Order: sequence, then structure tokens, then C-alpha cells
Amino acid sequence: MESVAYSLPLRNRFRGITVREGLLVRGPVGWAEWSPFAEYARPEIDAWWQATREAAELGFPEPVRDRVPVNVTVPAVGPEVAHRLVSGSGCRTAKVKVAEPGQSFGDDLARVEAVRDALGADGRIRVDANGAWDVDTALANLRLLARLGLEYAEQPCAGVPELAELRRRLARAGVDVLIAADESIRRSGDPERVVAEQAADIAVLKVQPLGGVRRCLELAERLGLPVVVSSALESSVGLAAGVALAAALPELPYACGLNTATMFTTDVTAAPLVAVDGEITVRPVTVDHNGDWLAAAATTAAWQARLAPVAAGEEDR
Ligand SMILES: [Mg+2]
Repeated sequence: MESVAYSLPLRNRFRGITVREGLLVRGPVGWAEWSPFAEYARPEIDAWWQATREAAELGFPEPVRDRVPVNVTVPAVGPEVAHRLVSGSGCRTAKVKVAEPGQSFGDDLARVEAVRDALGADGRIRVDANGAWDVDTALANLRLLARLGLEYAEQPCAGVPELAELRRRLARAGVDVLIAADESIRRSGDPERVVAEQAADIAVLKVQPLGGVRRCLELAERLGLPVVVSSALESSVGLAAGVALAAALPELPYACGLNTATMFTTDVTAAPLVAVDGEITVRPVTVDHNGDWLAAAATTAAWQARLAPVAAGEEDR
């Protein structure tokens, strides 16, 4: 299949990167994205390829809704920038990154306070710690953050047993914060353990890491938890798969983390998949061949070399 790499600068550093790269792949149905992060390896990135193939060769299941509510994503920025991001977003739900390496809990608190101020009392705030806290720290921090009104805390601790323990201790302490599992769903190799151990109230599903829209729909049914669809910080081509999942889920009680195209200074399409008034319209994405997103030829070559053994289905060693 024809493929070409993109290179999209980020407005603010996010998960340690300032430029997002990925590969666009053209199949019989259209363009699809393959963009596992640099630190990911086989066999994990094989699932990402299954998602790419689904989008390129099969397309997406029928939607049951034509718009998807989304959150504004607030990176580990200072309170002024956080306030500005949220105020200008049009979204009524904000997802705030916390527990950034090199920052203090005071920074987290100031950021969430700024977001609460920007949203007003009826806006919804969720925080994402990417598994950085131990159970004691999570309990102490969430107790303070809960006073600002939290919709849920995403992956406050790394392990499933820790999430389960935290959930019990929050309940015992009367702290009313729901727990969402993200990494424990997509990187543990055993998403159902989250349900078996009662470790979360909500499942965060990401299409590429979990092997495609159809696999995510099946997983959602097996888990039986409310689902929040999030992006893997893809270009609008990759986001379209997340939007397709959110549009096909029987129920969608929460805003999704799919408005991440706004975090780039440019995109692979002239019409990026971004929210208007807090909602993304379900629609196809057309690649803009005149855009400034095209990566250097060496970057495309490196991505194609990375993909080659995966696409060939070679035995992982
Ligand atoms: Mg997350």
C-alpha cells in the first residue's frame, strides 16, 4: 500500500514530545493512519497495524449518531495557559493532565483550579495521571482535587490491583471520584482484569492500540463499562477512526478525548476533525496533498522500515 509520513508540530509539549509523527497509508477504502509512539515495539505495534488495515481496507461500521461530544485536553501547562485553552475551546468538559514529571502537586492543583474557573460550576473536569501515583498519593491528591469537582480520575495508579485498592479506599473515605482505566485496558494485555477486580468505573478505549473499531466495539460489550473514546494523538486521519468508534457505540454517556487535532499547529487535511461548540461531526477526512504536514523523505523511509516486518506478519523475535 502507498504510504507517506507526516510531521505535525504541537502547540505545547505533550507526553514528552513536541512533534508528532506517523504514517498515512492508502488502501482501497481510503487513507488510514499507523502511528505507534517511538518507544512502542512489537508485538504491541501489531495491534496498531490491525487498526490501520481496518480503516484502509474495510472502513468503519455504521454510526448510530452523527455528532460526538468531546473534551478539551489541557497539557501540563501553567494556569494562565490552561485557562485560555479551556475558555477558547467551546467544550464543557476538560481533561487535565496531572502528575507531570518535574512538576509538583501544587502545579496540578493550580491548573485544575484555573480550569474550574474557566468552565464555571457546571463544567466537567477529569484528570489523567498516566499511572504516576501510588495509592497513598492518589488518595491524598484526589481528596483535594475532588473539592473542585471531578467527573473522574483516569489511570491515577499504574497497576490494576492498585486501582482496585484506591477505589475501595476512596469509597471508604467518602471521596466521590470515579476511576477510569486507560493504560490498564490497552497495555496490560488483559483488559478484562479491570472488570474482574472491580478496578474501574469507566473504560478508556483507543482504536489504534486496541486493534481497530470493531475490536473496540466487541471489547466494550465484553467489559460492560461505560466507554470514553480517546485519541492516540493522531492526525485527523487517525482521529476519524476514534470518531467512528464513538459514533458506533450503543451508548456514549461521556465526552470523548478526540479533540486533539487542536493541539497541532497544522494537520494532514485542510478540514481538520475538530469540535465546534464541543462536538465533532462524524464525517470522512480528505488528505490535503498541498499541506505543510509532509515529513522529510528520510522520515517516511524510517516509518516504512519500521512497518515492514509488521505488515509482512513476520514472527516477532
Ligand atoms: Mg490516558
